[in-house]
Amino acid sequence: MQAIEPCSLSGDLPVDNPTDLATEYEIVEIFHSVQGEGMHAGVPHVFIRFGKCNLRCEWCDTDFLTHETKTALDILGDVMAFPCKRIIFTGGEPMLNDLWPLHRLLKARGYSLSIETNGTIEVPEGMLDWICVSPKDQIYPNAVIRQRTGDELKCVYLGQDLAMYNELQQGFKHLFLQPCYMDQESVEWNGRNFSHTETVVKMSPPWRLSLQTHKWMGVD
Ligand code: SF4
Repeated sequence: MQAIEPCSLSGDLPVDNPTDLATEYEIVEIFHSVQGEGMHAGVPHVFIRFGKCNLRCEWCDTDFLTHETKTALDILGDVMAFPCKRIIFTGGEPMLNDLWPLHRLLKARGYSLSIETNGTIEVPEGMLDWICVSPKDQIYPNAVIRQRTGDELKCVYLGQDLAMYNELQQGFKHLFLQPCYMDQESVEWNGRNFSHTETVVKMSPPWRLSLQTHKWMGVD
């Protein structure tokens, strides 16, 4: 792990708060890769994948139940080992955590912070530079979407009526439909779903197609 220098004792940067550095998080993995989907597809990021989620989507491909405890200092060391200043908080559901300590430590070092969230927990104002909400109320009608504004609304498409997003979509700059992809289903099943999503997108501006290109590349 890279040694962490205390954040600047001079200039505009604050001194790290020891409580922030000692804050513990449950982490599945931290890795450097290329964002595969949505607005920033193709852009390298460091992904911090948090453990635990408050939903259980049948297509979920993340083992968010296997995680280890890391302090914010540990996380900082992992992140700083990569030549990349863009971070995505993902999961699991990252908003199950208090992200302010990480925010303070990473922002003090000039990182850009994005989040991928299911939207059931409101994101505090001013915490993130980019908010991507991927709502799951198409399968959990009772999952209230509390984060109703952001940069990107990315919906997994299962044939739902897009009218269900008429109100929610007003709060977002970019709208994406992403075909539901399930490893356990056949190539034909996934192909039909891709084709159906493409057809719906062509008839439903301003929705755009989002593909999980990282799966084609065989990367995380
Ligand atoms: S909300 Fe996301 S992380 Fe949670 S179960 Fe659904 S797909 Fe998986």
